[in-house]
Amino acid sequence: MNDHKRIVVGCDLDDVVADFIKGFMEIAARKYGVDPDLRPTSWEWDGADMTKERVDDVWQEITNTRNWWETLAVETGVSKRVMQRLNNETQLFFPTARAYCVGDPVSVQSAVWLHENFNISYPTVIVANSKGPLAVALKYDFFIDDRPKNCIEVKTAVPRCRVFMKTATHNLSTDLSESGIPRIATFDEFAETVLSAKLVQEGTCLI
Ligand SMILES: [Mg+2]
Repeated sequence: MNDHKRIVVGCDLDDVVADFIKGFMEIAARKYGVDPDLRPTSWEWDGADMTKERVDDVWQEITNTRNWWETLAVETGVSKRVMQRLNNETQLFFPTARAYCVGDPVSVQSAVWLHENFNISYPTVIVANSKGPLAVALKYDFFIDDRPKNCIEVKTAVPRCRVFMKTATHNLSTDLSESGIPRIATFDEFAETVLSAKLVQEGTCLI
């Protein structure tokens, strides 16, 4: 534990606290008339009425839209009060593999978004593709991500870290429980789990 024994938490952004897929599908709906409420059942956008060309085209539009990462809605199951508690009571990092788009640096867009939606003054957003090495460097105690690959990378890099896979339509076919990575339905549930563990650790919760 570092930083005055604070619990260290790594929290992915897209499809954990920000509704990336909703933003993506809204562009696809506008361009191709697909149902914006469709949700992919895989990382290749199966089940969302998308082709490779459409996916590439939507990404191109994202790349060309100024500060697009500031426009996303908050994911279901993320409340401002719980986010603020987690931020106040732990050392909270937001690692993300978000892609470039025009405007401010992606890390700045992400920090602005977190401030606007949760009133966090100085969120630490780290844009990086390799989440395992980052987990080692930052010494995560807890980590949440919707991408199975990232969950496995972090658990392998830091076995003592409690890793949770946030349930999403695109990861329903993946079961990581045998790797010691349980599913969790929402960010709020994850945060409550972290905060409960913190109370036990501090000895303020007498069982
Ligand atoms: Mg994600």
